[in-house]
Amino acid sequence: MASTNTRVLVVDDDPGIRQSFADFLEDLDFEVDVAEHGLQGLERFGQHKPDVVILDLRMPVMGGLELLQELKARNADTPLIVVSGTGRISDAVDALKLGAWDYLLKPVEDLSVLEHTVRQSVENARLRVENRRYQQQLESLVEERTKALAGANLRLKHLNERLRTIVNTTSTLSSWLDMREFGPRLLREFARNMDACGGSLYVVHEDRLQLLDTIDPGHAPEELPLPLPEGSLLGQAIATNQAVLVGDVRGGDAFAASGWQGYSDGSALIFPIADAGGNVAALLTLHNKKSPPFVEQDREIGMILSSYSCESLRAIRTFEALSQSERRFRELADLLPQSLCETDANGTITYANQQACVSFGYSAEELTERLTIDHLIEPVERTGENRGLVTFATDRNSGRECTEFRALRKNGTTFPVLVYATPITHGNEVTGLRVVAVDITVRKRQEQLILRQAHYDGLTGLPNRFLSLDRLSQLIKEARRTDEHVAVLFLDLDDFKRINDTLGHEVGDQLLIQASRRLRDTVRDADTIGRLGGDEFILMLGGLNGGLDAKAVAEHVLTNIRRPFLVDNHEMVLTASLGVSVFPEDGDTPAELLRKADTAMYHAKSEGRNTWYYFTSTMNDQVSRRLLLEQHLHGALGSGELEVWYQPVIELAGKHVIGFEALLRWNSPTLGAVSPMEFIPVAEQTGLIMQIGSHVLHESVSTLVKLRHDHDPRLRMAVNLSPRQFRDPDLPEQIRAVLRQRNLPGDALELEITEGVLLGGSVYTHEVLDSINQLGVSIAMDDFGTGYSSLSYLQKYPFDTLKIDRTFVSDLGDAARGARARELVNAAIVMAHGLGLKVIAEGVETREQMQMLEAQQCDYAQGYLLGRPQPYQALHTLFRDGVRQDAAHTHH
Ligand code: C2E
Ligand code: CA
Ligand code: CA
Repeated sequence: MASTNTRVLVVDDDPGIRQSFADFLEDLDFEVDVAEHGLQGLERFGQHKPDVVILDLRMPVMGGLELLQELKARNADTPLIVVSGTGRISDAVDALKLGAWDYLLKPVEDLSVLEHTVRQSVENARLRVENRRYQQQLESLVEERTKALAGANLRLKHLNERLRTIVNTTSTLSSWLDMREFGPRLLREFARNMDACGGSLYVVHEDRLQLLDTIDPGHAPEELPLPLPEGSLLGQAIATNQAVLVGDVRGGDAFAASGWQGYSDGSALIFPIADAGGNVAALLTLHNKKSPPFVEQDREIGMILSSYSCESLRAIRTFEALSQSERRFRELADLLPQSLCETDANGTITYANQQACVSFGYSAEELTERLTIDHLIEPVERTGENRGLVTFATDRNSGRECTEFRALRKNGTTFPVLVYATPITHGNEVTGLRVVAVDITVRKRQEQLILRQAHYDGLTGLPNRFLSLDRLSQLIKEARRTDEHVAVLFLDLDDFKRINDTLGHEVGDQLLIQASRRLRDTVRDADTIGRLGGDEFILMLGGLNGGLDAKAVAEHVLTNIRRPFLVDNHEMVLTASLGVSVFPEDGDTPAELLRKADTAMYHAKSEGRNTWYYFTSTMNDQVSRRLLLEQHLHGALGSGELEVWYQPVIELAGKHVIGFEALLRWNSPTLGAVSPMEFIPVAEQTGLIMQIGSHVLHESVSTLVKLRHDHDPRLRMAVNLSPRQFRDPDLPEQIRAVLRQRNLPGDALELEITEGVLLGGSVYTHEVLDSINQLGVSIAMDDFGTGYSSLSYLQKYPFDTLKIDRTFVSDLGDAARGARARELVNAAIVMAHGLGLKVIAEGVETREQMQMLEAQQCDYAQGYLLGRPQPYQALHTLFRDGVRQDAAHTHH
């Protein structure tokens, strides 16, 4: 691309030279522009801004020297190369004095010299710009020294003036980075400043002095072997590293001893020039033919000149090395993925690497303008535990190698960083700080994720058991301080296992998620909800005035859970059982409170579920009683301790027995008679109910066969089914088998179920009920009026019979509750009849109750008044004596 090529302007009145230079340089990919004389050259220079100018000295309109001055004034940094004829050396010297960078002798036969000179000039111009900053430093350094010298005697004043010129010289020289470049310039500047007419420059090699340059050609030998002979002046300069003055060359053959045929008249000076290590690297001779000759003062000035020159040379080298290492450092620093800053002693940023700019959203200029490192952290961090970055970086006693800060971007957003900092010291004084900040956003996020996974339940996002108990202990601590109460609500979904088993785990999971959401919506934000596992949840309410405060929440939770859930377009009804324990009444450790809430929940389950209880100490007794029952129940079936008794069902209209309800009795040799109200839930929980239930079914059906045979072939048998039995998919088949085995029609059997079986409303429930119904077996809804009592179930499922719970029946004649009970019983009967169901009233104990039921068109009755549950053997009296209608005679 043309624009990136080096642009050369050739100003020469000779068209041949113009053309040959242009052709040659263009072939080398330079972009060449030409001008015929100085004025045109000046114009071109302004338009094309060449990188280098080659100019002739003798030209019409405007000559080279004038052009040189004009160009210098316009841009001192553009290299100007003078081309002049051999006879015009003095012009070339003038041109150099005016600031030409180099000169070429005409005719330029070897054009590669032209190429080299142009390239060299361009490179030097680049270095020159690069070094300018350093030069300024150097200048101020020299100025400082100059100042130190000021105030000395007159001679020194004179010296100062000359030093100033030298400073200019050396700063010009400082663009010459190599002795080969540097030497000739040094020689010329020396000669000019010392007003010498001639001079030579030798470079010291191991075994010889090699002539590098000379301005008195023909005089100086090309080489002088080392070491130089004894008494040689040049040798003396090398050995002493001191300038040697030869006031009168003619006086002796001073130079001859050095093998020097050079100066034979006037005066001379020999200067050693030392390298960075202080060794003499070069020798410079000056010749003065004029009067006055060189004197001691010239020698001293020359010494200073040479020392400055050398210093300049050395400084350039050092600067080069420094800038190279600095460049390397910067490049390395910019490669780092961490933010890196350096500051002054006050924390004001003096350097920032690229990552720092990217991370904090500033440009490098903005960062280093006037921001301190404390501007890079959140204000709160400046006063907080870390007391700001500057404090952290300077405090050596903290013992902390690194610490975390909340970093602040320019746009106000924050992110976490890990900061390493160290003071930069100079002796004992802290001159600055070096700070490395590592962005740990990703690490933090991962830490939080891990923390979450360890403390939160993956499915519902609620705190897990571990975190829940931790929160609970905090609540307890808090409550202890404020003298308040904490309630622990232990919640277990009823029959959740059945949903999992029948509808699959995905549906189960969805339900759990929805239920957990609902729980969260139920309580205050300050309350904690956790999932303990499976379908168990915990709610913790802190800051209560007393345990009673939990009542409303517990009831609210249960009501909320009962609202239908919608999963995969299935509407489902769930219930839950809940137990509540309270700090400090029930315990003062999380474990104890949890255990007691669990016990209370268990109690709620055994009380028919869908309800809640506070923990009471009797529950503990119940728990141990339960364990006792469980132990003994296991063997009860095998050892014949379980017996089925039968309670007659009477038709109210004709007062005759239409059938029996099978009721289980357990007479344990160790525990005595245990009520089925007590042991059926245990059997249900442990799963023993499956065997027990099947025993009851077989036993009662075989009894029915005998009763039908002995008394009335229309007799029916009602058998209670617990929820768990109902969940057994083999149930319809088992029933069918029993009926077929005994050769009984389906309608000989009635199965009593409670609403609990229906809650949850799965498709499965419907299927089982339907297939039982298809066997002709009737289905009765037991305990109607207690618990949930959804009339919709009666319509939805194939029920044949409704059994009004005995609590309503016993209330019928009650002074206080009678009216309401009568209303309810009446409504149930009317509605059941409307749906084509028969109604059985349970627990009829008085004649009055029976008459009321009769009056309300109740179909059947069951109760102590009409007959207690009795073993099969005792039933014959019932048929022999008829139904007893006098409660006074009942016994059991
Ligand atoms: P349930 O099905 O409501 O049974 C009626 C209960 O009322 C029986 O109590 C019975 O003895 C009692 N009862 C009958 N007439 C009267 C009366 O006039 N006054 C009073 N106060 N009570 C009367 P039981 O036998 O203690 O049974 C309690 C519960 O145990 C039953 O309630 C039933 O839910 C369950 N159960 C009994 N046997 C079985 C069984 O074989 N399988 C299943 N799954 N549950 C059974
Ligand atoms: Ca029953
Ligand atoms: Ca009942």
